[in-house]
Amino acid sequence: MTRPFNFSAGPAVLPESVLKQVQAEMLDWHQGMSVMEMSHRSKAFVAMTEQCEALLRELLNIPDDYAVLFMQGGATAQFSMVPMNLLRGNTKADYINTGIWSKKAIQEAERYCDVKVVTDASKNQYNHIPERDSWTLRDDAAYLHYTPNETVNGIEFSDVPKVNVPLVADMSSNILSRPINVSDYALIYAGAQKNMGPSGITLVIVRKDLVDAPLDSTPSTMAYKNFSDCGSLYNTPPTFAWYVCKLVFEWVKAQGGVAAMEQMAEKRSRLLYDTIDNSDFYSSPVHPNSRSRINVPFSLKDSALDKTFLAEAEKQGLHQLEGHRSVGGMRASLYNAMPLEGVQALCDFMRDFERRNG
Ligand SMILES: *Cc1c(COP(=O)(O)O)cnc(C)c1O
Repeated sequence: MTRPFNFSAGPAVLPESVLKQVQAEMLDWHQGMSVMEMSHRSKAFVAMTEQCEALLRELLNIPDDYAVLFMQGGATAQFSMVPMNLLRGNTKADYINTGIWSKKAIQEAERYCDVKVVTDASKNQYNHIPERDSWTLRDDAAYLHYTPNETVNGIEFSDVPKVNVPLVADMSSNILSRPINVSDYALIYAGAQKNMGPSGITLVIVRKDLVDAPLDSTPSTMAYKNFSDCGSLYNTPPTFAWYVCKLVFEWVKAQGGVAAMEQMAEKRSRLLYDTIDNSDFYSSPVHPNSRSRINVPFSLKDSALDKTFLAEAEKQGLHQLEGHRSVGGMRASLYNAMPLEGVQALCDFMRDFERRNG
């Protein structure tokens, strides 16, 4: 059986070797039981969570003064957990709006504090990140929140904003796709289902000194402190998803770590953007200096051809290329587990489709 190339934005492609390992261990992960059938407090499971954290600390070079948490509720739950835990008596938080996910984070934070949108890319149809010197930052904000990679709009920051307040990043769609300096951030969060594993588990990396003063009204399952005090075993975690994340971290390490992931991300995205830019038939809505290496939205000259494009792509084994329902067109998501051959096959198909329809 050959599997198709899967360009889904999320839940997304996983490394085939990881899926095979999951399959091989399904009936007997430990003592004749699957990982889903064991207590999360069993020795074997706890040991797995410790290895998982150690691997991630190694991959991202996470300093000891940061806690690594595995939580539930997706990145969307973090939109509320961030203000609940990080306001710490302050009433102001700054947000950068570069796309649909930033906007959702802003709307949720407005329930908890005085939110200032310090720069707003919706004014340019989210086609580039506004210049740094136009941002109106507040020095007394509790934190600045931004989305390093906008999964729907296809905008990615190429460097870390330099600011004077704690920096919070929603890295759901580009975590583990390049080396980062964790100390640049107060908090990093990411839903697993784009670049780390299955849906249902959410990673939070947070500076330990920031977790001790959640709002009084914070539900206990949403207080970072409760998770950091017990290795994220506060209540029953999504055990299967956690285990698959650990296998993915092992895979990333075996590939050469995040530096190797970055090289691959460069190669994949360059191939696709070159194909788009070298044609009059396809176009990218994003300015070249703000383009995402991970999520590539593009449109056909004539949107009446969209349905045919998608149907023919699927016949070639190129799946889930339909753009987000809010923006239309196409989107190819090129996560770590997407082989280069998948992008080559997509580009070959695009050129052939253009020849026949252009
Ligand atoms: C997918 C995504 C989310 C939402 O994740 P959920 O797990 O569905 O809550 C938030 N932010 C970004 C950047 C995403 O890509």
